Parts: sequence; structure tokens; C-alpha cells
Amino acid sequence: MSTNKSVSLLKAIKPYKQGWCIQVKLVHSWRQKTNYGGDTLELIFADESGDKIHCTCKRNYIQRTQRDLRLGEWHMIDIFSLSNATGQYRTTNHTYKMSIIEDTKISKSSLVCDDKFFSFAGFEEIGNGTLKTHFLIDVIGQVTSLRDIQTVQVSGKDKKKVEFRLLDSSGQSIVCYPNMVCLIWFAKIGFYKGEVQVTNAFDASLILFNPECPEALALTNVPNNELALALIDPKKDKRVTRYQVDDWNDVDIKSISEITMATMEEDCKIICSIESIDTDWSWFYQGHDSCKKRAILIKSKSGNLASNEKPVFWCTSCRTNVTGVSPKFKLHLVVKDDTSTCKLMILDTNGRVIVGCEAEELWDGSYDEIEDPDVLPQPIKDLVGLSFCFGVTLGSENVSGGSEIFLVS
Ligand SMILES: [Zn+2]
Repeated sequence: MSTNKSVSLLKAIKPYKQGWCIQVKLVHSWRQKTNYGGDTLELIFADESGDKIHCTCKRNYIQRTQRDLRLGEWHMIDIFSLSNATGQYRTTNHTYKMSIIEDTKISKSSLVCDDKFFSFAGFEEIGNGTLKTHFLIDVIGQVTSLRDIQTVQVSGKDKKKVEFRLLDSSGQSIVCYPNMVCLIWFAKIGFYKGEVQVTNAFDASLILFNPECPEALALTNVPNNELALALIDPKKDKRVTRYQVDDWNDVDIKSISEITMATMEEDCKIICSIESIDTDWSWFYQGHDSCKKRAILIKSKSGNLASNEKPVFWCTSCRTNVTGVSPKFKLHLVVKDDTSTCKLMILDTNGRVIVGCEAEELWDGSYDEIEDPDVLPQPIKDLVGLSFCFGVTLGSENVSGGSEIFLVS
């Protein structure tokens, strides 16, 4: 239970274990349907210090999660998994995103705090390109230049679009428009006809007119900074298939500074030395033997095992309970060359090659979670200082999704 467990702040939680307990407010949620992700419930939580994190809930757990969570209320959430947060529509600046799993427990918290945890971006920052566009932002301003509703073509379908401009509260000029304030929560920065524009990001965005907050009151003053806005409803649902190399001899060697600034999805090689092991992550995962994909221990079904019994896992790929599970390498390394440093992720087959043994041989045999991630098996510690030539895949999550972790192929 959460009562005898320490509560962590969102900034402290890392993927090496699942047994975290957090106290958070549900600030936003929406249902999402995509071809690759299926039907999911997307959630955004904030903690007392104002940090936010995105959470995904797969179809199997939606009913249960919706029953336990109330919008705008505080909850204790116990046991969940964490993974790298990437993509062009990142709702928070947290390095990781949460997933609800079988063992996740959600209970009410007695905390009361009405803070909405907006993080408003300044119009100047938006306009001069200092903000990374794959992070969604909150904007507020007074509505001006409201245009007629237009019908535009998005992915071959007619969509309604309304454009207007917003004024912030920094200027001296006189307002001559109706006194309407617009707040867009989780908006996307984009570019249209050479102008910086803010749009709603599908169902992730919330649009409020004349919201009740101090920032809205401030806007009744004299404003002049303008920002173009377009509200549009494009449903995008694509997944790019990348060309796979057949022969690594044909692949170019690149420097780390080149791959971190790459604009094209491709495979390449880097020559680098291992600087450290990234212990935000566990060095292995429990993988389903037949599909090699991650399997999550179901504690509630593996409580009091006899010594000859195997615990029950949920295979995230086969979507079924399995027991044929064993440790597989998933190494996260910080590497460097003359030009820069970056992070690499190395999965089981390549992990065996560089470490020189099976992950199972280094495993201590315990299904308990790692409590101190800095305790590593010696053969993994010994990787630090060694140099390798790695084949690296620059995927869409790196090139357009802003991920700084590269997969070794
Ligand atoms: Zn499986």
C-alpha cells in the first residue's frame, strides 16, 4: 500500500523500476485512436512542484483507470512503467512518459490544490524560434482579427478552420476588439506562409474562452504583441516505413555531432568510446522468450510462489499472460567521440556481443525490482572506456521526434 512507501516527485522518477509512488493531480485527459497505438486513454499529471508528465493507458486498463481517476483531483499512483518520451507532440518536458500497467494502483489523495499548472509561453519566445516546436505550449491572449470559418483540405478531407490573432499584455496600443480572451492548453508551434503560428494539436489541446485565471485578468490591460493562431482539426495517422540496410559495409561512418543534427532517417556507423552506463534505466529487461518483447511481472498474480513455480508476466507484444520469460540486455550507454556525446540503446543480440555473455548469466535471479540502479554487474561496468564501431539507426523518433537516444542496429 502507498501508506508505507515513500512518495517521489515527478522529476525523480526513472525507468529502471516500476515500484514508484507519486502524488499527482489529473490536469487533462483524452481518448486517442491511432493505427499504430490502438485505442488509448492519454493523461497528463502534475505534482506539487508543478512538474508534469504524460501517461498512456492501453485499452485493457481504460475502464478501470477512468473509474479511479477524477479530472482536477489529486491521486496517489503506485507502480507504473516509464519509457522515453519522444514525438512531435510532446505535452510535457519530462524526459520520460508513464504507462499504466496491470499492477498499477490508483487511490484518492487528501491533497487540495487548485493550481491549474499552466506553463504559458511568451509570444516573443514563440515568434523568435527559441522554443522547440515538438513541445506543446500553453498560450493566452486577447482575440483579434477573427476571420470567417474556412474549409481546408487536410489529408484529402474537408476540415473547418478558423484563424484569428492573439494579443498579449505587454504593450501600449489601444484595444478596439471585443473583450474576449482565448487560452490554448497544449498548443503546437508551427509555421505557415512564413509566419509563426500556434495551432491545436489534435485532441491533446484544450481551448478555453474567457477562462477564469489571473493571466486572463491581466489581458484586460493594453496589449500589442500579436500572434497568429489557426484552429484546425486534422486527423493525422501515419507511420513511416524506413529502408533497412542489407550490408553494413556500405554504410557511412558519421561523427556524433552529425547524427545528433541529422535530418534524414538512415543507418550509419559511429566510432566512439563508452563514457558511462546510463543508470536511469535498468541494464536488462524480462523478455518473453518466444517474441523477445518486454514482459511485465504481474505481482498480484505472483504473490506467494513455491520455489519451483515461475512468476506470471504480461507480454506487451503478445498481449497475454506468459511464464516463459528470461532477462535480456537493454543497455543504455553514454558514448563520445571527438565531436560530441550521445546516448545509445543496445538490445539483447548486440548486448551479448559487446558484453561477451548472456544477460541471464549476469542476473542475480531475483524478480524484485532494482532499488539501487548504480549497482551493476562487473562485465557491464568494464565496458566503460572501451571503444567500438556501432551501426546506428537514425529513426523518426530521432530525426523528427527529438529523441536523443539512438538504437544500435
Ligand atoms: Zn510475447
